[in-house]
Amino acid sequence: LSSRASGILSALNIPTNQEISGVYDGQWKGSGEVVESVCPTTGEILARINTASPADVSGALTKSREAYLQFRDVPAPRRGEILRQIREGLAIKREELGALVTLEMGKIRTEGVGEVQEFIDICDYAVGLSRMMNGRVVASERPGHTILEVPNPLGVVAVLSAFNFPVAVYGWNLALSLAAGNATIWKPSPTTPLTSIAVTSIVAKVLEKNNLPGALAGLVTGGQPVGEVLVGSKEVDLVSFTGSERVGRIVGQAVVSRFGKSILELGGNNASIVMPDADLSLAVPGVFFGAVGTAGQRCTSTRRLFLHRDIADEFLERLQKLYGALKPGDPLETDTLLGPMHTPAAVNLYKSTIDYLRSIDADILFGGKEYDVTPYDGGNFVQPTIAVPKSVDMSDRIWSTETFAPILNVAIFDELEEAIRWNNAVPQGLSSSLWTRDLRNVGKWTGPSGSDAGIVNVNAGTSGAEIGASFGGNKSTGWGRESGGDAWKQYVRWSACTINFSNEAPLAQGVNFNV
Ligand code: NAD
Repeated sequence: LSSRASGILSALNIPTNQEISGVYDGQWKGSGEVVESVCPTTGEILARINTASPADVSGALTKSREAYLQFRDVPAPRRGEILRQIREGLAIKREELGALVTLEMGKIRTEGVGEVQEFIDICDYAVGLSRMMNGRVVASERPGHTILEVPNPLGVVAVLSAFNFPVAVYGWNLALSLAAGNATIWKPSPTTPLTSIAVTSIVAKVLEKNNLPGALAGLVTGGQPVGEVLVGSKEVDLVSFTGSERVGRIVGQAVVSRFGKSILELGGNNASIVMPDADLSLAVPGVFFGAVGTAGQRCTSTRRLFLHRDIADEFLERLQKLYGALKPGDPLETDTLLGPMHTPAAVNLYKSTIDYLRSIDADILFGGKEYDVTPYDGGNFVQPTIAVPKSVDMSDRIWSTETFAPILNVAIFDELEEAIRWNNAVPQGLSSSLWTRDLRNVGKWTGPSGSDAGIVNVNAGTSGAEIGASFGGNKSTGWGRESGGDAWKQYVRWSACTINFSNEAPLAQGVNFNV
């Protein structure tokens, strides 16, 4: 193992000379297929992981259920105290864990550390929440009656996550799920197993120290077959799935068919709209970060850019300058802004999309190929690309599908209404952003005839959300909400309790049923 990698792994106590257990249910194990964790920057094999066999998954689910039955009776503020300790455990290892995200996923270091910070933030949030998961007292129409709406723990929550946020998405789910009194079982992306093992180890230590079952935060690494067992299992009360629309459709249908609950966080196809009155000194770097940050591999990455005709030329000139100054680098180096794509398959997707752009005679203003010189030969580096397709028909696949790569498609508009129509004309509805200084545009954009996405920003890019508001998208992005806001309400089982304190037993709506 290179010293570049071994330092990071040993700082997190991950053994480097043996196969690593990828299942945790109170004990570390793994009797399924062996998968390799591969560094996207160098192509180096970082580790071999023993993933979950079907028997491991069903054993872990049994342990999760037992853990839930114990944990549901722990008072919520006490659960909050566990979260506070998890927060501390994460904070101590923030830099090391962030570096591991960078090593294994490929995003730049500040973003890797940012993800861990996001987990820390949501722990803080959930500590507070543990004293604020309030139900309601509802006025009854019957004398001497009270109606309560009571949140109780739900059960076992399975978290299936994508490769691009290997820490934060699990953090959002685990924090709310633990505060709510549930057991959580995590199936991470098969290409980021080390990160999930490192995170789970930190959480497990806290649980152990508090004499709580490790299966409250179980881990089953592996691919599709492991995911399928969780999704199909009646032992799982809530499936929180983050990933592509293609898989989300399968998962959503499978969960509904057994009347389970699901939260779906699927693909985005996010647009930025730049008005003629926009402050371009904010808008140009904002769009640049949205399109190029994480090498275009955020669900909220800016994929469509609608420029008002009056500023289009200037905007593109300034944007191209920023693209021109980009150099692919080792994401572990602090001055690198552009790391690799996560996998060779992602590079192929990039290439086939560029081929398609050429086949429809799009103007490729920047990029469109792999780099001639890259920091490491084995890395998955591609040039971020700006293209102007000839057609603005949003049903064409170049506009209507999410290509998970740094390709920004540009169109020119004359009226805001036209740009909003384009914004809304795709199946997905995750994030959107408008750049303007005119209050009237803001009203239109955020109102009934405005953006139909779950995230509707003004003078802020499409990506980079905070944890305070609930996060998620509409339409084919799946309608799920996670993180802040009211998202916690999905992680509990709600009961409406009518309690009669009187000596009569009247029926509601004045119904008479005298015997
Ligand atoms: P993916 O859909 O390929 O995989 C997601 C997860 O599903 C993985 O853990 C995978 O192993 C598992 N899986 C695959 N087939 C399954 C099946 N049949 N049953 C159960 N599980 C199965 O996604 P990816 O390539 O890892 O991630 C990229 C996608 O995730 C993009 O579309 C991106 O927009 C989306 N994403 C969305 C959000 C959001 O919050 N909306 C956040 C991050 C990523």
